[in-house]
Amino acid sequence: MIETLQMKQNISLKPFHTFGTSVKAAKYTEIKSKYDLQDLIPVQEPFLVLGGGSNILFTKDFEGLVIHNKIKGVGIISENDDEVILQVGSGENWHALVLWCIENGYAGIENLSLIPGCVGAAPIQNIGAYGVEFKDVFHSLEAIDLQTGSTKIFNYKDCKFDYRDSIFKNELKGKFCITSVSICLSKKPQFNTSYGVIKDVLDSSGEELSLKSISNAIIKIRSEKLPDPKKIGNSGSFFMNPIISLTQFSLLKSKFPNIPIYPVGDKEVKIAAGWLIDNLGWKGYRNGDAGVHKNQALVLVNYGDAKGLEIWNLAKSIQISVFEEYGILLETEVNIL
Ligand SMILES: Cc1cc2nc3c(=O)[nH]c(=O)nc-3n(C[C@H](O)[C@H](O)[C@H](O)COP(=O)(O)OP(=O)(O)OC[C@H]3O[C@@H](n4cnc5c(N)ncnc54)[C@H](O)[C@@H]3O)c2cc1C
Repeated sequence: MIETLQMKQNISLKPFHTFGTSVKAAKYTEIKSKYDLQDLIPVQEPFLVLGGGSNILFTKDFEGLVIHNKIKGVGIISENDDEVILQVGSGENWHALVLWCIENGYAGIENLSLIPGCVGAAPIQNIGAYGVEFKDVFHSLEAIDLQTGSTKIFNYKDCKFDYRDSIFKNELKGKFCITSVSICLSKKPQFNTSYGVIKDVLDSSGEELSLKSISNAIIKIRSEKLPDPKKIGNSGSFFMNPIISLTQFSLLKSKFPNIPIYPVGDKEVKIAAGWLIDNLGWKGYRNGDAGVHKNQALVLVNYGDAKGLEIWNLAKSIQISVFEEYGILLETEVNIL
C-alpha cells in the first residue's frame, strides 16, 4: 500500500533538538524511506533535513519545511574473513549502531561510542572522538538530490572529508538528503587506546581489552565530562579546535606557555578551543538560562528556557573575546540556523 506523506504545520521542534529551545517549524514531515522523498521533490521552499538535532542551534523559528529523517535498516553488503561492509539507513541512531557492531565483533567505531545523533549526519561533519574519525571507516553513501530527485553514490574522494568537515558542509550544503551510509569494519580489531585517558580508565576498570571494554571506558569518560542533553540542553562542542601555523603558534606560546596543542602535519598545530575559552574565565558563566558549562568551556548550555538567540549572542561574545586575546577566530562546529 502506498502511503502519502503526512504534512504538519506550525510544529514545535523542542523535542527534536538537543539544545531543547522553544522553536517552531512552519512545515514538518517524517520520511521513513528514500521513496518518501520523491513526494517532496523538487523542494521549493527552504528546507532542513533533520536527524537527531544534536548539532543545530535554532536562533529563530524555521520558516520552511523540516524533513525529519527516520530511514531505518542495517544490512551486510559483503564480508570476508577480515572485514564486513554494512549499509545503514541514515535515520538509524549512531550509538545504537556502535553497540550493535560491538556485539557482532565488528571493529572500527567503538571509539565513537555515545556520540548523539543519526548515522546520516556522521559524514556531514566527519564526526570524530578519541583518536578516530568517521572517515576512517567510510565506504560510500547514497544521497538524493532534493531538486532533481536523482540518486548519487558518493565515494571517499567525493566527500572531501577533513577535520569536522566534508563537501556536504560546503559546495553541496543543503542540496542532498543522505539516505544510507556504508561503512567498512574489521573482524580483526586493532584496538586504539592511545588517546586521552582511555588506557587509564581501562586499567582501573580491570576489564580485559576488547571492543566492549573500550566502548565502556569511553562511555564512562564522556558521561563524566559532557552534560547529558536529556538533562541540560546542549550540542556538544560548540566551536571547532582552531588550526594555526607554527609561526602563529610560536608567538602565542611566548605569551601563553601552557597552551595545549596537537600537531597537524609539520606546518600547523591544532589548539584546544576549550582551553582558549577557559583561560578567559568563561567556564561556568551564566546569563539567564544561557551559559557555558561548569566543567566544559567548549560546551554552551540551555539551563531551561534560554532562547536560541541568547545562546548565539553568548557564542558571539566568546568569539570576540577569544579573537581579542589570541587573534584567533573560533569557527562554530554547531550549525547555526
Ligand atoms: C553531548 C554531545 C556530544 C557530542 N559529541 C560529539 C563528538 O564527540 N564528536 C562529534 O563529531 N560530534 C559530537 N556531537 C555533535 C553531534 O552529535 C554530531 O555532529 C552528530 O553527527 C549530529 O547528528 P544529528 O543526527 O543529530 O544531526 P542534526 O543535528 O540533525 O543535523 C546536523 C546537520 O546535518 C544535516 N543532516 C543531518 N542528517 C542529514 C541527512 N540524512 N542528509 C543530509 N543532511 C543531513 C542537517 O541538515 C544539519 O545541517 C555531540 C553532540 C552532543 C549533544
